Amino acid sequence: MSEPEGLKAPRRRAGDTGSAPGAGPAGKLEQIRHTVCDLHAELAASGLVAWTSGNISARVPGADLMVIKPSGVGYPELTPDSMVVCDLEGRAVDDPAVNRSGYRPSSDTATHAYVYQQMPHVGGVVHTHSGYATAWAARGEPVPCVLTAMADEFGGEIPVGPFALIGSDEIGRGIVATLSGHRSPAVLMRSHGVFTIGGTAREAVKAAVMCEDAARTVHLARAYGELTPLAQDQVDALRARAGGQDMAFCPRRIADLFIGVEIQPAVKGAGGIAVGSRRGNCRGAVPVRGRMPT
Ligand SMILES: [Zn+2]
Repeated sequence: MSEPEGLKAPRRRAGDTGSAPGAGPAGKLEQIRHTVCDLHAELAASGLVAWTSGNISARVPGADLMVIKPSGVGYPELTPDSMVVCDLEGRAVDDPAVNRSGYRPSSDTATHAYVYQQMPHVGGVVHTHSGYATAWAARGEPVPCVLTAMADEFGGEIPVGPFALIGSDEIGRGIVATLSGHRSPAVLMRSHGVFTIGGTAREAVKAAVMCEDAARTVHLARAYGELTPLAQDQVDALRARAGGQDMAFCPRRIADLFIGVEIQPAVKGAGGIAVGSRRGNCRGAVPVRGRMPT
């Protein structure tokens, strides 16, 4: 594909040892490469990933591009230059000045791309198979909101998304469908693992860390006794006090995501899937009522 000339990074000269982020679109892209690379190190340091599994991406603002982990490269070997720049169809930019390493993008790239296409307010996506959270995903069981920290971070339970095969946008569709109208920035994809979203990649990493923390604590609590979910008014009060930004939103083609969907008039409180965003980026939204894909 051809890219806006202004986004292309300057060709590196022999002897260059790194990319010094500067001003301008190319400098911005360099900054994002560095940020995404550094965040992968945090993912590993937090114990959320094993071997080459897991990945982080960040949207390149204003360019319909994203930066994502390369496929099959171990965490200690990741560098800013090894990060792969892709379009929002999940294709690596075919330009050696942009993708210098020649690595293929992560096998989860189509998933990340779909989320960016459908969720304009999302600037970062994280995927892990972190142990406790993925154990809940293996059971297909949401993590109930039994802790004040969960109300703060997730605004309720951590939901489960449908089972989906890797490689197409099927996982992305499940993520978008599950997180639509949900406060949580994290979803447990059934029999797979954790996907989180954020306004930035760092926010998405924070959600992944907090998701695993909550999943571990609630697992331990249940192992030794009964769980007591917080009352909804308590959850709401905690969420409001914490200043949480709901990640609920309306995707551009939300009707595509539901089976037997019935489009409702745009009436407040009409029920169905709650749509809308405190960030005000859901212009033209209509509430929809339908059955989630299973
Ligand atoms: Zn995975």
